[in-house]
Amino acid sequence: TAVSNSYPTEALRAADAAHHIHPFSDTKSLNEEGSRIITRADGVWLTDSDGNRILDGMAGLWCVQVGHGRQAIADAVHAQMSELSYYNTFFKTTHPPAVALAERLAKLAPPHLNRVFFCSSGSEANDTVFRMVRHYWDQMGKPDKKVIISRWNGYHGSTLAGTSLGGMKAMHTQGDLPVPGVHHINQPYWFGEGYEMSPEEFGVMAARDLERAIDEIGEDKVAAFIAEPIQGAGGVIIPPETYWPEVKRILDERDILFVADEVICGFGRLGEWFGSQYYGLEPDLMAIAKGLTSGYLPMGGVLVSDKVSVGLIDKGGDFNHGYTYSGHPACAAAALANLDIIENEHLVERVKNDIGPYLQERWIGLGDHPLVGQARMKGLMGALEIVPDKKNPHKPFKDVGVPGLLCRDVSFEHGMVMRAVRDSMIISPPLVLSHEEADHLVATARKTLDDTH
Ligand code: PLP
Repeated sequence: TAVSNSYPTEALRAADAAHHIHPFSDTKSLNEEGSRIITRADGVWLTDSDGNRILDGMAGLWCVQVGHGRQAIADAVHAQMSELSYYNTFFKTTHPPAVALAERLAKLAPPHLNRVFFCSSGSEANDTVFRMVRHYWDQMGKPDKKVIISRWNGYHGSTLAGTSLGGMKAMHTQGDLPVPGVHHINQPYWFGEGYEMSPEEFGVMAARDLERAIDEIGEDKVAAFIAEPIQGAGGVIIPPETYWPEVKRILDERDILFVADEVICGFGRLGEWFGSQYYGLEPDLMAIAKGLTSGYLPMGGVLVSDKVSVGLIDKGGDFNHGYTYSGHPACAAAALANLDIIENEHLVERVKNDIGPYLQERWIGLGDHPLVGQARMKGLMGALEIVPDKKNPHKPFKDVGVPGLLCRDVSFEHGMVMRAVRDSMIISPPLVLSHEEADHLVATARKTLDDTH
């Protein structure tokens, strides 16, 4: 049985405040405010401890592609646990679910990515990337290639490598990060940073920051460039159309690895299996997690290209890296059942041809609201830039973040989860969202804006 929902709500809140340290939260304030307690979820709907139904506009944390409460995943995990609940994949050992998932991912991924290293999260995937690219260049006889270039306001996780690769300054200041060997360049955030020129010009300029950085550091010292196809946690930063083609040109001319962090954009979020396909990119490595299992169990991985396999595998020797739960059988079973649902219900095509365009049109229609400076969306990830003065939209609020947080709370009171990033509101709903639910989502967002003062 599930941990009992008959646990009295106030006792649960008190115990939470007393004993539980929450990620990315001011835990001290829980004594006054108390946590929101989610007790059940089904499809795109959450239920809280007061019995309220709340539309999950964020698919949990950008991960529940197939919606909540899918019995087929629970059954697959149950069956796997009944047969082999745990064994590892260290020291040349394996088991059927890990192999089946590796083979399945090699078939799903673009043709040049044929191998996968498993881990338990997106952060671990990027820690793996960090070590893998350096090991690759060592194996290729170029041990000086160590620097990894990433972007300000990118997000690559919360471990030391993830935080370092990420470009969140508030995270860097806690713990004196980044670690040495990471270099940050500008992000392609036209609305916030490039509005004095056209989006097209700005896209090229932001991309050329990569070229400048490689030239300054020296190509012989740069190991890799890592980026999300669309920055998610940074605020659904959709790059101008000129950005990725220019980055691609730069990468094609240089001998460095390109790592796509597909932790959010992968598994259908942009109407392709991977965000790299949406933008026509050919990454040497791809970090995956979240939508791999729709969050039913923790799992991540790094998809490895044939090019990287030459250094990593063909040249021989141990890769001295791994996690107790790499390829965990129950997590792999959850991933396989999740991928079955995504395929059988044509969810990727649905985002491309049906619910994606349907929601985009309505979401972008919110741009007429007096508080909205820009409404943007690709696939099923969108943002509203909230501005104090629509006639002067690029001038932000003085108390940065306050309108976003206010708006988030009003949205919750109206029965919908949206996320606040600075002064913008973010959505990333499950891929199974119906048309009716999409209408409800947009109507609730409008009501939220109306009621945010
Ligand atoms: N990479 C990206 C692009 C992410 O959005 C996230 C999480 O939001 C991560 C990595 C880290 O994943 P996890 O929280 O599973 O460690």
